[in-house]
Amino acid sequence: MSSSSARVDLDGNPINPLTICMIGAGGFIGSHLCEKLMTETQHTVLAVDVYNDKIKHLLEPDSLPWAGRIQFHRLNIKNDSRLEGLIKCSDLTVNLAAICTPADYNTRPLDTIYSNFIDALPVVKYCSENNKRLIHFSTCEVYGKTIGSFLPQDSPLRQDPAYYLLTEDTSPCIFGSIEKQRWSYACAKQLIERLIYAEGAENGLEFTIVRPFNWIGPRMDFIPGIDGPSEGVPRVLACFSNNLLRREPLKLVDGGESQRTFVYIKDAIEAVHLMIENPARANGHIFNVGNPNNEVTVRQLAEMMTKVYSKVSGEDSIETPTIDVSSKEFYGEGYDDSDKRIPDMTIINKQLGWDPKTSLWDLLESTLTYQHRTYAEAVKQSIAKPLAN
Ligand code: NAD
Ligand code: UDP
Repeated sequence: MSSSSARVDLDGNPINPLTICMIGAGGFIGSHLCEKLMTETQHTVLAVDVYNDKIKHLLEPDSLPWAGRIQFHRLNIKNDSRLEGLIKCSDLTVNLAAICTPADYNTRPLDTIYSNFIDALPVVKYCSENNKRLIHFSTCEVYGKTIGSFLPQDSPLRQDPAYYLLTEDTSPCIFGSIEKQRWSYACAKQLIERLIYAEGAENGLEFTIVRPFNWIGPRMDFIPGIDGPSEGVPRVLACFSNNLLRREPLKLVDGGESQRTFVYIKDAIEAVHLMIENPARANGHIFNVGNPNNEVTVRQLAEMMTKVYSKVSGEDSIETPTIDVSSKEFYGEGYDDSDKRIPDMTIINKQLGWDPKTSLWDLLESTLTYQHRTYAEAVKQSIAKPLAN
């Protein structure tokens, strides 16, 4: 698409170039959002993060067509007085910064709560005090468990969407007990959502809250021992990619029975782009962003990823492609899980006309092609090294 000034919003109004303060711009979602904004719009991004490896290709060299429209600011929002100035000189703030890997929720609950609630507070405050619009990233995990999960296993009501469909303005948020520290993340995200909502109601803050439902694609997380710590536990896409690259069985936590819907990052970014450019339709709303058609159990995901990886790498799969592991062994004490996550798409469809397009097979094919191209050689070398020594 060209980035001509003739671009219009969903109501036919011309889109004026914005300055966007994007916090957490160096992460998985941030890198794709920066890419979209640089290649398809005339907006300027003040990219805030402690890391910039995933957006390096957008920052260098200086001759890139969008040079001058993206500036990287290396700062930690926990303790940096420059943050308010960056928010003040922007039209819109997008806050993506967070600790958001389940392996941290029960093992680093304090960091998780501080990151998702306390560190987000000044961002909300500066937006509210300076009358700046805020798009805040929350999570589908605020819904917690489905009502249906409390029904007997064989209850026919489990098939009724009223017992599992997750709807922004009507579904309750159901978390486990306090010892189940898994829920520290969801609870912190829920409280910051409530605070933003209250700032909107009492002080007129213009806000949009995004609840991502398992967005996946290239650049998600890291491969342990290659571009992240050897003992690190990323989210499921990177865990399974790592196992496939190393020709190890994929580990199914508690039998891999939990269900998830996966959406391709490029489809999801399209939804965020619409929110950015259609404030009148997005302000005051909480949006589910996911793909209800891409539901699988984690076991089915493992099976599909094994097949797709075989296709893109040209390697046969190993004899025992999966093994079961208990959540206590894999994540430690205090882990718990969301049983099922199907987003109700009514609100985003009505407000922004957005629908995801990419099937699970197709999104895994492009993502695993990327993983293979990016990591296969480095993994091979890291496996060979100890043998050579
Ligand atoms: P990510 O970890 O790849 O990106 C987060 C970025 O925030 C990282 O680059 C990190 O360095 C940065 N950051 C964290 N704390 C910071 C601080 N104090 N100062 C400056 N930068 C800081 O995660 P992501 O997948 O891109 O997720 C982005 C947001 O979306 C998060 O708020 C997350 O909770 C939410 N979310 C994502 C998903 C998903 O499917 N990817 C699902 C649910 C919620
Ligand atoms: N999971 C798994 N094996 C792994 C990593 C994750 O079985 O190697 C499971 C995890 O227990 C959860 C699901 O996969 O049921 C999705 O995990 P993810 O880390 O992506 O985050 P979540 O969707 O729970 O926020």
